[in-house]
Amino acid sequence: MKDEKLLPAARETLERYLKVKGMRRTPERFALLERVFSTGEHFYVDVLCEAMELEGYHVSRSTVYATMQLFLDAGLVRRHQFGNQPAQYERSLPGVSKSHLHLVCTVCGRVREVRDSNLTAGLCDRKYPGFKAYSCALYVYGECGRCQRRNQKQ
Ligand SMILES: [Zn+2]
Ligand SMILES: [Zn+2]
Repeated sequence: MKDEKLLPAARETLERYLKVKGMRRTPERFALLERVFSTGEHFYVDVLCEAMELEGYHVSRSTVYATMQLFLDAGLVRRHQFGNQPAQYERSLPGVSKSHLHLVCTVCGRVREVRDSNLTAGLCDRKYPGFKAYSCALYVYGECGRCQRRNQKQ
């Protein structure tokens, strides 16, 4: 699915979810959804709050956290926790978002995404008795190029 088609599809998913749950369609929820879907990168809640503030949109941190929980339940974001860093989120669309590998630098915490369809396809299509799988995430821990270069100089 192309990037510009993701947001309308995400909006529809959220509309449906709120309706089923009997929850209100608040403008904050849709503004946050738009922001979350504007990037394919991983992000921290703090950075999301700052970005909203810069756009002149004041939403409290607790609203943002509560909304992220709602998006998680609706399958619109994925949450990752690498080591002892704060949780990171990324946009997701049920049945659309491709699985990817996360290369996690254990020195600076940077996360790079790579697609390795040979590996993820095999893994995500696996069946486990009595378990219904929705998505899978893979993490590879190591040292990023920048940190390796920095270490060589020292
Ligand atoms: Zn690094
Ligand atoms: Zn990711």
